[in-house]
Amino acid sequence: MKEGEEIKGLVFHCSDSSFGSATMIKGWHVNERNWSDIGYSIVICNGHVENDTFMPFMDGAIEWGRDIDREAAAQRGFNDMEAVCMIGKSGVFTISQLESARRLILYFIEHHGLTADKIYAHSDLDSRKPHCCGLPIKEFVQACINLESLDRFVKGR
Ligand SMILES: [Zn+2]
Repeated sequence: MKEGEEIKGLVFHCSDSSFGSATMIKGWHVNERNWSDIGYSIVICNGHVENDTFMPFMDGAIEWGRDIDREAAAQRGFNDMEAVCMIGKSGVFTISQLESARRLILYFIEHHGLTADKIYAHSDLDSRKPHCCGLPIKEFVQACINLESLDRFVKGR
């Protein structure tokens, strides 16, 4: 992706698993769905890369998925937008993940012409995915842009 090139939008997904990584999701998509590559452009890890092992340095880690210049494959009808997968069950993300999502959002706004109205949760685009990704996305995006604390978006506190 060239500097200044505009992206059509950003769509947030969740993995619906308590653990995972770009490598693991690629395995699911390639081996179980017969796709050519992982469907997501970007993955945000929660530190649980494998089932029970918590690796703090991977909490909030941003991993590359498929080539960002290729169409995503995660959101039928909207694959011209970049797909971001947050590892976690619906809406259950760590503060580090939310801060990483903020960094992505602000980066794409500053460098690639993204605007708040072009940032979606998967559930906004597909009524069959009501729990993906489980964040109140419009409110979350505004909090990111306003540099507000994101603590209120962490579930279970
Ligand atoms: Zn989704």
